[in-house]
Parts: sequence; structure tokens; C-alpha cells
Amino acid sequence: MNFYDSSVVEKILIDRGFTKSSSPQEANVILVNTCSVRAHAEERAWGTIGSLKRIKENNPDLKIVVMGCMGERLGRKVIERAPYVNLVLGTHHFKDVNLILDLEFAEKRMITKVGEVESPYQGLQAVQGNSVLANIGVMKGCNSFCAYCVVPYTRGREESRPIQDIANEVKEIVEKQDKEILLLGQNILAYGRDLNLKNGFLNLLEEVHNVGGVIRLRYLTSHPKDLTPFIIEGLKYLPKVPEHFHLPIQSGDDDMLKAMNRGYTTTDYLKLIDKIREEFPDSSISTDIIVGFPTETETSFLNTLNFFRKVEFDYAFAAIYSHRPEAMASKLYPQEIPLDEKKKRLKDFNQLQEEITFKKNQKLIGQVVEILVEEFSRKHRAFSGRTRTNKIVAFTSLKTDLIGRLVKVRVKEAGSWVIKGEEI
Ligand code: SAH
Ligand code: SF4
Repeated sequence: MNFYDSSVVEKILIDRGFTKSSSPQEANVILVNTCSVRAHAEERAWGTIGSLKRIKENNPDLKIVVMGCMGERLGRKVIERAPYVNLVLGTHHFKDVNLILDLEFAEKRMITKVGEVESPYQGLQAVQGNSVLANIGVMKGCNSFCAYCVVPYTRGREESRPIQDIANEVKEIVEKQDKEILLLGQNILAYGRDLNLKNGFLNLLEEVHNVGGVIRLRYLTSHPKDLTPFIIEGLKYLPKVPEHFHLPIQSGDDDMLKAMNRGYTTTDYLKLIDKIREEFPDSSISTDIIVGFPTETETSFLNTLNFFRKVEFDYAFAAIYSHRPEAMASKLYPQEIPLDEKKKRLKDFNQLQEEITFKKNQKLIGQVVEILVEEFSRKHRAFSGRTRTNKIVAFTSLKTDLIGRLVKVRVKEAGSWVIKGEEI
């Protein structure tokens, strides 16, 4: 989502005559887009912001903009801690990046723009580069309030962009180059609910699917509580949507899921997995998991490991729980699980998942997969791209002009991290 937002702001600046600078030292304006989902992400953003102080000392006319969730969450506090920042833009105020050209800035005033507004994306578009992949934000906000999560506080309530706006944006993008489109929303399955659309998500997919020049169509992220058998069945009619399901579980223990306010049980989740595998036998399923949520006992963690053994996800993004001051969990459970313990659980989890991923990837050896080619690495003298199941494969070919094409590749080697093959 932040990549998309950055491209939206980039387009505003390009339309006003700016060009991209090749180094921070040469820039007139530097924008830092930030994430608040974990304390670690904010610490890294502070590191980046801190490194700009010296550059500003050497170039006092430089304008520094901090945008994104940290801007929204901290507002003026960003400027209090880093007084050389000129403008703080929250998650809804892209258009106000224009302020850096206004008179107020000539007087070197510092400005903060935060708070929710309606339709922040209206009338805006993102810059799309030469990459074969294009991101498109289709809705803003989140109404789910998972107990650990800051997103509903930094990105406000759900609001869907009109289907026609999205379809037009896609048409314009693929006019220049065929693309894989990735539609983005914090809970994209809820798309259109605020517009009173009954099957908004499927309607949106169908509309974008029918645009010629869309090679593949993916979407992020699905909340299991909103995935219905009807949606799973509907996807069968949309062949450009690959059979990959990213379905964040967060924990494999029912007490934890309840404490996290996720709105489903492990039994509900398993039913979805069965349905997916019944309708799409060759599908891949990936997930997100948080280890060390407050009150997670050794037993609840072991339940999670067992759940993962049972489901056998293709891959998983695991994170150590991080207290977010706005989120309910930090108010309800001020006591955190010690960091050493959380780290140990993360290590145990990753070890297990790596074995499962290895086993899953090994099954690909000898198979022919369809790759959408993204890159050529001179160093490895190989192309790379992803399967429909969202696995990265490096492969050799005698051809030279494969980027952006769909090619058939036979898999020769497969580890947990690297899959290799050759074009057939
Ligand atoms: N809306 C998406 C993802 C939002 S954040 C969804 O619901 O799936 C991306 C991931 O960050 C989450 O899936 C979760 O695993 C992780 N995450 C969110 N808040 C966190 C926190 N406080 N500590 C650790 N991980 C967190
Ligand atoms: Fe956060 Fe839950 Fe919303 Fe995802 S669905 S953004 S985890 S509150």
C-alpha cells in the first residue's frame, strides 16, 4: 500500500514539473514514506529521517516531507523530534504535498496535515514504471480492529473507490504495456460494502479481469472472516486470477484468535482451506502469523505449531508481536512476553515452516510451471519471475526478450528459498 501511495505522490510532483533525483544530496525535496505496523518499522523510519539532518545542513533549501502511517500517528511530534522536517502528511493528505510549493514554505514554516478525509485518492493516479507489475489501491482504511493492530487508527475507516475509476486506471496502465495487476486493500474482501454492493469484491475482479492487457490479476489482503464459499467458487470463473490464496491466520490457537479479535476459529479456517483445496487442487496457500501475542502460553504456541503442521502452508510471513499504543491489546495486556521468549518462538516457528516450504517446493521438481517473467539477472545469467502460485523461479533460456511474457518452465531444483528451472 505504501508503494502505491508513494507513486501517487510522485505523480503529483511530476505533474508539477519535478523530476526524480538520483541522490538525496542533489534533491530539492525528499519524501519519507513510513510504516507503523511494528515498532521496528518506525525505528527504521527514524533512522532514515535522522540521516537527512546532515544533508539539510549542507542544503538549507531542501524540503523534507514525512508521510504515511507514522505521520498520521505522530503528527506534530515528528517535527518536535526532527525540527528540520518541513511537512508531515498523514495517510489521507496526498494532495497537500503541493504545499511545499506554496508561499508558506517560502517562509520556511512547518506544517502538519493529519486526520481522516473522504476519498483521498479521488482524481489522483500513480506513476507506473516499466515493471511488469502494477499496484493499485482500491480502498482505504480498515474496520476490523484486530486487537494488536494500529492500521484502523492510522488509516481510518473503509472506503472503496468507485469500480469505474479503478477500471479506467487499469485501462490506462495497460494501454502502454501489458501488466500483472495487484489490487490492494487492508481487507479487500470487504470491497464495495460501503457502496452497498452485494458482491463488490467479485464485481471488481470481473471488471478488471475483462480489461485486455491484464496478464494476471492478484489481490491483497484477504481476511478469513470475509472469505465465503461463494467467493472461492466465483474465482473459478476468472482464469487470470491465479490459484494463490494469501490468508493471514495470525495464530493457530483458538484462545489467541479470540484475544486477537479475529472473528474466526481454527475450525472455521480449516473449512476454508478444505474448500480452497477442493475447488483449486493445485493452489498454494500462504499466511501471516504473529508470535508472542500477550497471554500466548507455551501450550497455545505449541497448538499453533501443530496447526501449521496440519495445514502445510506454502510459505508464511512471521512477525514478533509489537505493542502499538493505540491498539486494544496494549491497553488490555500491558505486560508483554519477554523478548527472549518471543525470539525463541519465532526461531522455532521459522524452522518448522522452512521444512514445510522445502517439502512443498520439492514437489515442483519435474513439473512444468507458467512463469510471468519479471527480470533478467546478468550475474546469474538467468531470468526470474513467479508461478501462478506466487513462487519465484529463476530459469535459463536461449531467448533474450522474455520480460513481461508468460513462459513454460520445467523445474529442476527446489529448496526453501530458491527454485530453479529451464524454459521448455
Ligand atoms: N490488513 C492485512 C495486513 C495488515 S498488517 C491483514 O489483515 O492481513 C500486515 C501483517 O502485520 C499482519 O498480517 C500481521 O501479521 C502483522 N502485524 C500487524 N500488527 C502487528 C503487531 N502489532 N505486531 C506484530 N505484527 C503485526
Ligand atoms: Fe490490521 Fe486486522 Fe485491519 Fe488487517 S484486518 S489491517 S490486521 S485491523
